[in-house]
This record gives sequence, structure tokens and C-alpha cells, in this order.
Amino acid sequence: MRAPLSTLSLLRPRSLGEALAAMNGTGATRPVPLAGGTDLFVYLNAGTGATGRYLDLWGLRELRGIRIGRRAAALGALATFSQIREHPVMRRRFPSLVAAAAEVGARQIQNRATLGGNIANASPAGDSLPALLALDAVIHARSVRGAREIAFDQLYRGYRDLTLAKDELITAIELPLPFPGTIPFFRKVGTRRAQSISKVVFAGMLRRDRAGRVDHVRAAFGSVAPVPVRARRVEEALWGEKPSRAGAERAVEVLAEDIAPIDDIRSDREYRLAVAANVLRQFLRAADPGFSRR
Ligand SMILES: Cc1cc2nc3c(=O)[nH]c(=O)nc-3n(C[C@H](O)[C@H](O)[C@H](O)COP(=O)(O)OP(=O)(O)OC[C@H]3O[C@@H](n4cnc5c(N)ncnc54)[C@H](O)[C@@H]3O)c2cc1C
Repeated sequence: MRAPLSTLSLLRPRSLGEALAAMNGTGATRPVPLAGGTDLFVYLNAGTGATGRYLDLWGLRELRGIRIGRRAAALGALATFSQIREHPVMRRRFPSLVAAAAEVGARQIQNRATLGGNIANASPAGDSLPALLALDAVIHARSVRGAREIAFDQLYRGYRDLTLAKDELITAIELPLPFPGTIPFFRKVGTRRAQSISKVVFAGMLRRDRAGRVDHVRAAFGSVAPVPVRARRVEEALWGEKPSRAGAERAVEVLAEDIAPIDDIRSDREYRLAVAANVLRQFLRAADPGFSRR
């Protein structure tokens, strides 16, 4: 049943300081942060959202903007997927995250949906999450107690369970600029080409040294485990290798040790395993045709 709006109250902080002070409350006095509302309104509509107080972050300019530095980009937590996909430097330097942004719902959703909201919502099917894992993102969090940084691969403890403290807000997402020559890849597989929830979502990064050996690789999956995962066995199998078909198949062989897909209403385990293997092959072939050569 829908949550009746009369049971909800909305705080509109004028600054990040005011927002953090509100988050410092306890129990029912601590509000639920509200960014674009594209997840929260679904929960409220379904009657599964928390009733009580909400904290509207939308007006906080401290959480806005995309800044590109010499070594890293810093995206405010309120950066929307439209802003990410339209930003010229993001398009050039972070095409895998831009590709993920373009796959989140439709344009109307992308205009409101924020990167911070996608991260904090913590769905294993969140489309930006494998891209952030593959880019070695760092989360900036703040509370009245201070600021801290969390490596993205340390953010999720279990299904929808974040290491973020209850009084912390995500303020920004830092992305180190990939080294020249690093090849990015993103692929979402759903029931149809657009506006679907991922059955398998993947992001990868691969670079070779002058001798042609893999000297940087990231392979990250969503929708195949309780949390988005880096396929570390796969990465180990590829590290230091010269691209070859046999090498690609060795990486595919160990994939099942990295991921734990389940049967659910969208797909079954066997299907997800097969798709994940195919997407991994596709990534490797796109990164270097040598992965398809015998
Ligand atoms: C029709 C539709 C289609 C969708 N399609 C996709 C899709 O294809 N792929 C996909 O990944 N998602 C999809 N979504 C889900 C949703 O749009 C995204 O997860 C979005 O990024 C959520 O961002 P938001 O700003 O709207 O978050 P909100 O709904 O405002 O918040 C989501 C959660 O994050 C918390 N939160 C928000 N900001 C912060 C912050 N700065 N610090 C701490 N906590 C915070 C909130 O308290 C809440 O728990 C879809 C949703 C709809 C309604």
C-alpha cells in the first residue's frame, strides 16, 4: 500500500553543514536522505519506503558539479546520469561510466537519478556500480564527525549493506584518470535493449605493456552476486599474459569462482553464468583481437 504523504515530512537544508547536522539525529529523528527520488519514490509508492522524515539534498550546491583535475575527476554525489553522459571530458576519459549512465532507465530518469543515489541504493543490479569498480573509484563521505574516503571495492559488506555510517552522506565520487592506452568496456544485458533491469552488467579495463603483456586489468560484474564484484581470479589469470584465445578461455574457466549468480524472477543461475562468460569473452576480444586468435 502507498505511504500516505501526510505521514512524511521534508527537511530542506540550505547548506551541507545543515544537512550533516540533521543526519546527526538518532532513531526516528534521523532523516532519510533524498536525492533524485527515483528509487525512494518507487519504495513509497509500493508502501515499502521508510515513513517519517526525509532530507532533500537537491538544493545543496556542495554536492553538485563535475570537476576534472590533473590526476582524477571529482563528481558531486548529485551528478545526474544526464550530466555525466553529456560532459565532454567524461565522454572522452570515462566512456564506460558514460555508457552505464546512458543505460539507466530513460532520459526522464537520467535527468533526476544521481550517481550518489545509485551507489547508496546499493542494488546489485545498479548499472553504474561495475563501472565504478573497474575505474577504482573512491567514495568521499561526510558526517559532523568529519570526512573520510572509502575505496569503492570496500563499500559493500553484503546485500544492500553499506559500510557507510548512518549519519554519513556521500558527498563526492573520485575517479582516477585512466592511464593512456587503457581500454574501457561496458555491457549491460537485460530482457530488452532499453529500460530493463540488468540480468548481467559488466565493466572492464585492460592495458598492455610495450611487450604486449597485460599490465592492468579490471573485470567487474553486477547482478551476479549479492554485491557488485570484481572478478579477481579472472584478473589474476589475465595479468602478465599476452593476449591469446587459450588465455581468454583460462580466464573464463575461473569466472565461476568469482561470481555467485542466483535464480530469481529475472533469470536463472545457469543463464547468468553463460551470459557472464560471453560478456567476458566479448570484452577481451574488444580490448585485443589477439584474445580470439588461436
Ligand atoms: C523507471 C525507473 C527505471 C530505472 N532504471 C534503472 C536502470 O536501468 N539502472 C539502474 O541502475 N537504476 C535504475 N533505476 C533506479 C534509480 O533511478 C537509480 O538507482 C538512481 O541512480 C537513484 O538515484 P536517486 O538520486 O534518484 O536516489 P534516491 O531515490 O533519492 O535515493 C536512493 C537511495 O540513496 C540514498 N541516498 C541518495 N543520495 C545519497 C547521498 N548523497 N548520501 C547518502 N545516501 C544517499 C537515499 O537515502 C536512498 O536510500 C530506475 C528507476 C526507475 C524509477
